[in-house]
Amino acid sequence: MNKEISGKTQVCALIGDPVEHTMSPAMHNAACAELGLDYAYIPLLVRPECLSDAVCGLRALNVRGFNVTIPHKVKIVPHLDGLDPMAERIGAVNTVVNNGGELTGYNTDAAGFLAALRERGCVPRGQRVALVGAGGAARAIAHVLAENGAEITILNRRKEMDWAHEIAGLVADNFKKKVEVLELNETNLKKALHGAALVVNATSLGMTPHADATPVPAALLNADQTVFDIVYNPVETRLLREAAAAGAVTVNGVDMLAWQGALAFRMWTGRDAPVDLMRREAMRMLKDNEE
Ligand code: NAP
Repeated sequence: MNKEISGKTQVCALIGDPVEHTMSPAMHNAACAELGLDYAYIPLLVRPECLSDAVCGLRALNVRGFNVTIPHKVKIVPHLDGLDPMAERIGAVNTVVNNGGELTGYNTDAAGFLAALRERGCVPRGQRVALVGAGGAARAIAHVLAENGAEITILNRRKEMDWAHEIAGLVADNFKKKVEVLELNETNLKKALHGAALVVNATSLGMTPHADATPVPAALLNADQTVFDIVYNPVETRLLREAAAAGAVTVNGVDMLAWQGALAFRMWTGRDAPVDLMRREAMRMLKDNEE
């Protein structure tokens, strides 16, 4: 945990509802302790109807910055003074920096996804990507992949296909890039994964307590692919287990979580984050929660 709190301690926070299972305080306070920085990071439960008051309060209390999680990532946008261009394109914010009362929103989910991918040696430019899911995380991931030159196919279940088309429309407007949209079924998965260098699960399929579920049949996985599952609970999902058995390179949700935190940390403190330590802290908390 952080060292003693003083009158000079700078405060960072997480706002969301719920927040009790968050790993961010453990990751950030460990990183601050490691670097000897006088910061403290706290979780704050903010109900949807209190968002506006909470943002005014955080500004008035002169916090250095804060993370934003479900359900506020989109709704916070009009309460901020400015947005980084990528956060503006995505329309969602997970990190806010306070510079002298001016609040600027960023999306380090997108940048964290890319950093985790690059760490495993995967460069999206010119690669075909099968992106399963069309929720909030998929929207950020589609943008960062398009910005980095990937050819994207989004697969989503039938009842919410309009979400996938909305993402495709946004990416087309922002990056002049066509995104293919397919219904999530075995035939279309086969088509989308044929020749795909990267397979991403951005759904909650495979998450505890449904850890026996997987979005992609094992027979479609192979050693030429990188398989990225953004689900972090369990750390090794069934998809990642089967991808590793097929010889694919795997990237897990804790990698993305640690990198999104590390990038926010650098914005608030001006220091490079000890990302491996942050990853270990997240793993430790997940293990504690399992027991
Ligand atoms: P979300 O906005 O609620 O989107 C969930 C997505 O999962 C939607 O596309 C939904 O499809 C799909 N889905 C859910 N159950 C499904 C099923 N049984 N079959 C097929 N598709 C299904 O959630 P989110 O914020 O994008 O988060 C998605 C997952 O990513 C969660 O597990 C979350 O914990 C994880 N996540 C991880 C990180 C990280 O840093 N590692 C960051 C953000 C999120 P429909 O549109 O058809 O409902």
